[in-house]
Amino acid sequence: MAERLIVIGGTAAGLSAASKAKRLKPELEIKVFEKSGYISYGACGLPYFVGGLIDKPEDLVAVSADTMRNKRGIPTWIRHEVTSIDRENKTVKVTSLDTGEESIHEYDKLVIATGAAPIVPPIPGIEAEGVYFLRNVEDGIRLKARVGQAAKRACIIGGGFIGLELAEELTLSGIQVTLVEQLPRLLPFLEPAFSKSIQENLESRGVTVYTGTGVREILTVPGVLQETPEKTSTGIVRGMMTSGGDTIDADFVLVSAGVRPATALAEAAGLKLGIKGAIVVDDGMQTSDPSIWACGDCVQMRQLITGKPCYIPLGTTANKQGRIAGENAAGLHSTFKGVLGSMVTKVFEQYIASTGLSLEQAKGAGFDAVSSVITKMDRASYYPGGRDNELCLIFDKGTGRLLGAQGMGSESIAGRINTLAAAITCGMTVEEVNELDLVYAPPVAPVYDPILIAASQALKKVERQEKE
Ligand SMILES: Cc1cc2nc3c(=O)[nH]c(=O)nc-3n(C[C@H](O)[C@H](O)[C@H](O)COP(=O)(O)OP(=O)(O)OC[C@H]3O[C@@H](n4cnc5c(N)ncnc54)[C@H](O)[C@@H]3O)c2cc1C
Repeated sequence: MAERLIVIGGTAAGLSAASKAKRLKPELEIKVFEKSGYISYGACGLPYFVGGLIDKPEDLVAVSADTMRNKRGIPTWIRHEVTSIDRENKTVKVTSLDTGEESIHEYDKLVIATGAAPIVPPIPGIEAEGVYFLRNVEDGIRLKARVGQAAKRACIIGGGFIGLELAEELTLSGIQVTLVEQLPRLLPFLEPAFSKSIQENLESRGVTVYTGTGVREILTVPGVLQETPEKTSTGIVRGMMTSGGDTIDADFVLVSAGVRPATALAEAAGLKLGIKGAIVVDDGMQTSDPSIWACGDCVQMRQLITGKPCYIPLGTTANKQGRIAGENAAGLHSTFKGVLGSMVTKVFEQYIASTGLSLEQAKGAGFDAVSSVITKMDRASYYPGGRDNELCLIFDKGTGRLLGAQGMGSESIAGRINTLAAAITCGMTVEEVNELDLVYAPPVAPVYDPILIAASQALKKVERQEKE
C-alpha cells in the first residue's frame, strides 16, 4: 500500500509541503484539509484587496482545490476542519463545515500547517458587529463589503505592519482613520526616529495616531448587521473609548493586535509546545512525534544570530519551512537553518524594511551593541527623482559584527536591506560590508551606495572602541 501523507492547512506552509512531497515522491497518497473556503491565498495581499487595488478575492488565489486535485494529484478539501489527531492510531478526524459530516482518515505521516490566528484583546465590546480581523480571504471579503457600504470613519487597534498597511488602504478609500497603539511608538523594534517618521507620514495623510494608548471599550448601539447570522448580535460598533478617556466615533473597528500560533490541535494531541504555544520542531521541521512535521506560523523558529528560539511569523518563512517539511515527509533530510525576521512594508510612499536584531534585542542577547544611522540619496545627487534612504546598522561595538539593519525611504530600501540580510547571514563585520563591491549608475545608486556610507559610519564607532 502506498504511504499516506495528510496535510492540515492549505495555504503557504501546507501547500508548499504537499506540493514538494508529491513532486519528490509521486506515489505518496496526499490529502490536504483546509477549514476556510480558499486555499493557496496570499494573505499578504489582503490589505490591497480591501483597499480596491486587487479586484476579486480569486485574484489572491494561486491554485484552486480543483487544480490541486485534478492537475497535481493531491485531493484537497476546503471547508473541512481537522478536529482531532489520534497519534496512537495515526488518524485525524475531519468535519465538513457545510454538512457537519465527520470522517476519519489514516496517515503514515502528518504535516501540521495550521498557521496563526489573530489575537483577540479582552476589550469590552470586542464581540460587537462591525469589529473586524484580517487573516483570511473571508475576513477580507467581510471587511471590504463594510468599506463599500459608505463607511466614513474607522478605528484600527494596533500599529504593527498590518495595521499600518490598512491605515493606508482605508485612507485611500476615503475613510477617516484613527489608529491606536498601546506601545509608546509604532513598529517599536525600529530606530525611534524611524517610528516617529512613520507616525508623521500617517498624520500628514490625515490619519489620527494615538501611541501609548490602550482601548478601554468598543462602544456600540443596539442593532444587527446580519454579517454573521449564526451569532447573536451584541450591538453594532459606533466608536471606541481610549484608555485616556477620549471617545472616537467610528463605523467599524479593525483589530490588528498581533497573532498567536494556532496550535490547539497540536496541544490536544500532546505535541511539545514552546514560545507563545508554538509547536517545537527540530531543524528538519519534525515535531516531538517522529511521524509528524509542522511548519509556518504555527511553529517556533530559531533566530539565526542568537541561535535561540523565537516566534516571527512571516510568509517567507512559512513557504520555506513548508518545502522542508514536504521534503522530509518524502524521505529527505533537509534542514531549515533559522530566521532573521527580514520584513518590508509600505505606508503611502514610504518604504520600511528591517532584518536581524534591533538594538534592544541585540543588547538583550548579550551583545555590546551600538547603532548608527545615516541619510543618503538613493541615486546620484544630480539625477532627478532621487529620494533619501535612511539606514540604521546595529552591530557589536567590539568586533564590528553586523547584527541588524533597518531602512526607510524609497522602494530601493528593500534591496539594500536584502543585501544586509545576506551580510548578516554570512557573519560579516561592518568593515567587511564597507568593502563590498556594489553597483553604481546615476539613475540607480550613488557612487557610494547608502550601504557603504552606513558601514563606514558604523566603522568609526568600532574603531573608537578599539582605540580606548
Ligand atoms: C493581512 C496580512 C498581511 C501580511 N503581509 C505579509 C507580508 O507582507 N510579508 C510576509 O512575509 N508575511 C505577511 N503576512 C504573514 C503571512 O501571511 C503568514 O506568515 C503566512 O500566511 C503563514 O502561512 P501558514 O501557511 O503558516 O499559515 P496560514 O496562512 O495562517 O494558513 C494556515 C491555514 O490553516 C487552516 N487551518 C487552521 N486550522 C485548521 C484545521 N484544524 N483544519 C483545517 N485547516 C486548518 C487555516 O484556515 C489557514 O488557511 C501577512 C499576513 C496577513 C494576515
